[in-house]
Order: sequence, then structure tokens, then C-alpha cells
Amino acid sequence: MPSTTHKIVLIFPDHLSPDLSSLAAANPAADLVLFLELRAEATNVSHHKKKLAFLFSAMRHFAGELRAEGWCVDYVALDDPANTGELAKEVKRAAKRHGAGKLVATEPGDWRQRETLQGDLGLDVDILPDTRFLCDHEEFEAWANGRKQLRMEYFYREMRRKTGLLMDGDAPEGGEWNYDKENRKPADEDLDFRAPPRVKPDAITKRVLKMVEAELGDNFGDLEPFWFAVTRKDAEKAADHFIAHGLPDFGDYQDAMVTDEAFLFHSVLSFYINAGLLDPLELCRKAEGAYEEGRAPLNAVEGFIRQIIGWREYIRGIYWLKMPDYQDVNHLGAERPLPDFYWTGETDMKCLSEAIGQTKREAYAHHIQRLMVTGLFALLIGVRPKEIHEWYLAVYADAFEWVELPNVIGMSQYADGGLLASKPYAASGAYINRMSNHCETCAYKVHRKTGDGACPFNHLYWDFIARHTKKLAGNPRMGQMYATWGRMKDDKKKAYRDSAKAFLETLG
Ligand code: FAD
Ligand code: SF4
Repeated sequence: MPSTTHKIVLIFPDHLSPDLSSLAAANPAADLVLFLELRAEATNVSHHKKKLAFLFSAMRHFAGELRAEGWCVDYVALDDPANTGELAKEVKRAAKRHGAGKLVATEPGDWRQRETLQGDLGLDVDILPDTRFLCDHEEFEAWANGRKQLRMEYFYREMRRKTGLLMDGDAPEGGEWNYDKENRKPADEDLDFRAPPRVKPDAITKRVLKMVEAELGDNFGDLEPFWFAVTRKDAEKAADHFIAHGLPDFGDYQDAMVTDEAFLFHSVLSFYINAGLLDPLELCRKAEGAYEEGRAPLNAVEGFIRQIIGWREYIRGIYWLKMPDYQDVNHLGAERPLPDFYWTGETDMKCLSEAIGQTKREAYAHHIQRLMVTGLFALLIGVRPKEIHEWYLAVYADAFEWVELPNVIGMSQYADGGLLASKPYAASGAYINRMSNHCETCAYKVHRKTGDGACPFNHLYWDFIARHTKKLAGNPRMGQMYATWGRMKDDKKKAYRDSAKAFLETLG
């Protein structure tokens, strides 16, 4: 340790990048790097055990890399008897231990943690921008300022221009900005899906796995088998594997779901990107390279790059623009508690048991499972936005509030009244049947609309439409649905609503 510590550099669990702004502002000869494993943060919601093991192991590996580079590192482990488990208390304790009067941190990805750093910690705190993102808060605010609707597509075009990714001079490569219409093929079981590479736990990871089981055994999810990369080197191998084997088909089958196939052609890189093990822009440049060398088609590469420089950046912009009020929005007045089966996967609805069962095993589900299965069901039955938000925050390895909250509250639950999505992502069982093979083995019949054995998504969909007429009928993108509902005979309407009511009663 330096004899007198000039300042403490606090590294959050998702700040595991060597080019972090806080590290760049510090001096290895005089300053000290602090890592904290905090019980309060691991249990504020029931975070998946795989997620916690991933973050703690990746933190420990990163701490080791910094030590090897000459940094002094103070690492407070979760099971250290002196660890109070709370951010403010641990910062104060570390400041006392090291006689430091100053702390520097890259901005955390959680409003609450930023508030804590801005509170009275008894030392000077410098919060630096997170330069790992392309768009800072000021730039997003300037883009959003004066716009009635904050549509991702226009923001994305700005990011394409800014980065030069897939640009042909001032024009988009291939003439179109967005090739999403080519990306809606249903998959079939015969496709050759390549699972992400599995990394064997090393000694550090094995110790972490033991600790998580002993200290946080009651948290959600299956801890083992544990296969995540926990170092930049292994995360980069996973990225190269995806570019070689998944990217070429990523676009075509982006919205597909297949029973017993968790990953399809998705990258399964979000938790590495979010934790800081992968640089998002570098990853996009690699994907662009694959297109330029003819190893992946334009629709796939554009789709992948859009998710990262478009959706990911836009979602973060919305979070910081709209917090803290955003966490309490409830435009549709949803008040139902989250059904218990979200924690067990035990339901006869095959699409839900698949998505939740896989979530429990892997701390992963792909976008369409999150949006059009677990999210859709919660939307249709009207789960309290805060409850479904806390579920998503807990169960996915990539879930940090800045990215999870707008995706859940805005995109999937329409709780912000259309700030993020131009209409609710509401659909009946027909959508799930078109995009998956789950219905073939489901206890419910997807073509049955009402009564015994009818797919719940069918009657819940029309019940949702009817319940929210006042708030949604005026939305031009919902016009066709409301026209169909309006033309429907009264006895049919009643059958839908009675079936939905009977089903909702079974949920308690
Ligand atoms: P791919 O399908 O391979 O996509 C590539 C990358 O694009 C992802 O790794 C991710 O970094 C980025 N990306 C794609 N869509 C989004 C998006 N909507 N917002 C932000 N980044 C995006 N993503 C998270 O990272 N953390 C979350 O907590 C999270 N919660 C979500 C909750 C709901 C209800 C929904 C609908 C989406 C959520 N997403 C979240 C976005 C998306 O589902 C995941 O990023 C994606 O499924 C991760 O899997 P992948 O790495 O295989 O992604
Ligand atoms: Fe899901 Fe309905 Fe299909 Fe069953 S029939 S898998 S509940 S969409």
C-alpha cells in the first residue's frame, strides 16, 4: 500500500475495464484501488447466483490484473467478517483505514448508488463520466430536447454517423439504415445452433462459487454448472466465437424461439459488455469487419450493431434523462402481484415454463423471450411495474438498473405511456406460435380462443384491449385492433372477458 493514500479509486462490479475514466484519473504510485463485494447490493433483490458468482469472480480477476500492473488494491470480500455489506459504510471504513480524504469513481449505472456517492461520506468524492458509452448525458439531452417522441431509430442514425459504422460516405451501407424486416424468420429445430463457449472454473472462480453458495444460497437460480468467462481474454474468445458462428444467422432468426434451445444465434455477450469485459465499439468494429470480408451478411451485421450503438445507448440515455421519477411510472394502472411461477417456472404454459426455466438455469434469456413471453404475459395480466422490474433486475446476469429498467418499464410494460415504445408490445398466442415451436407441446391449445384449454394469451389479449380502451384506443398504431374489437359481437366479447376473468382468478 502507498504509505499515505492520496485518493481511493472505487471500482463498481460492472466497471471492470482497464480504460475506465477513474483509473485514468489516478496514479498507481500514490492512489489505491478499492473493490467491494456488498451483501446489501447482492440481496436488494434476489440476484441470480450465477450473476453474483460471475461478477465477484470477474472482479477478483480484474483486481489481480491491476495488482500485476502495479496498482495497490484493497479488496473487501463478501465473507470478510469486518465487511458491513453497505456501500456508504464500506467507503467510510476504507477512507479511515487508508487515511484518504478523496475518492474518485466512474459514474455507477444505478441512480441509487450515485445518490449514495453524492451523500455525506466524510471525504471529497469525484464522479467521472463513464466514457465507455458513445453518448454522454449532455449529448442525449440535447438530442431529446424539444422532441415530442424519442424514437430509437433517429437516435441510432446519429450514432451511425458519429461512429462511421456501416456508412458509405454520408449514406448508410446498402442504402437502408435498418434491415429489421428481413430479420423475422421463425427457426426450426434442424438449424445448427452453436452454444457459446463454456469456460472451466479456475481456482478463483471455484472459491467464489463456494462462497456464493454458503453466503447467498437462498438467492434465485442455479449456481452450477457455471461456465461464464470471467476475464477479458475469455470474453474476447466468446466474442470471436459469436462473430464466426452466430453472427451470419443472427439477423434472420433474431426473433425466433425453440424449445430446449437457450441461445440460438444470439451473441450471449450482454453480461460481458455490461460488466466491462468487452468494449462495445470494438465489438461492433469486429462485426463490421466480418461484413466487409464477406463472412456475415448486411442484415445480420446491421441488426447486431443497431442493438449495441442504437438500443443499448438509447436505453441508457432514457434512464438518466428520466430518473428518478421513471422508476415509479404506472401509466396503465397495473396492480396485480407477480405470479409465483415467475420464481419457479412451474406452469402449464410451455412458452413461460421454457423462458423461466432457462432463466433459472442460465441467468439468460434472449430478447424475444424477455419481451414477448415473460414481459408480454406480465403486461396482459397487469403486473405492478415495480414488481416485474425487480424480477428482471434479479434474474438476468446482464441486469443493471440503467439498462434493465427502461427495457422493462418502458419497452415491455408500456408503463411510461409511450415515451419509449410507440405502442404496447401486446400480442396473442398466434405470435408465440408463429415464432416458436412451444405451442406444439403445450397443455393449452393455441388455436382455441376461449373456454377450457384455450391459450391464455388469446383471451388475455382481448381483455387487455378492452380494459385499456380509454388509454389506448386513440393510439393510431392500435387503430386496427380497436376496430376489430369494435366489430366483434357482444357474446364473443363476453366470452373473451369471461375466460380471462376465470383464468386470472386461478392466479390468485
Ligand atoms: P443479442 O441479441 O446478441 O444482442 C447483442 C447485444 O445488443 C446485447 O448483448 C446487448 O448488449 C445489446 N442489446 C440488444 N437489445 C438491447 C436492448 N433492448 N437494450 C440494451 N442493450 C441491448 N439487456 C441488458 O443488457 N440488461 C438487461 O437487464 C436487460 N433487460 C431486458 C428486459 C426486457 C423486458 C427486455 C425486453 C430486454 C432487456 N434487455 C436487457 C435487452 C436484451 O434483451 C438483452 O440485451 C439481450 O437479450 C442480451 O442477450 P445477447 O447478449 O444474446 O443479445
Ligand atoms: Fe404459450 Fe399459448 Fe403457445 Fe401454450 S399455447 S405455448 S400458453 S402461446
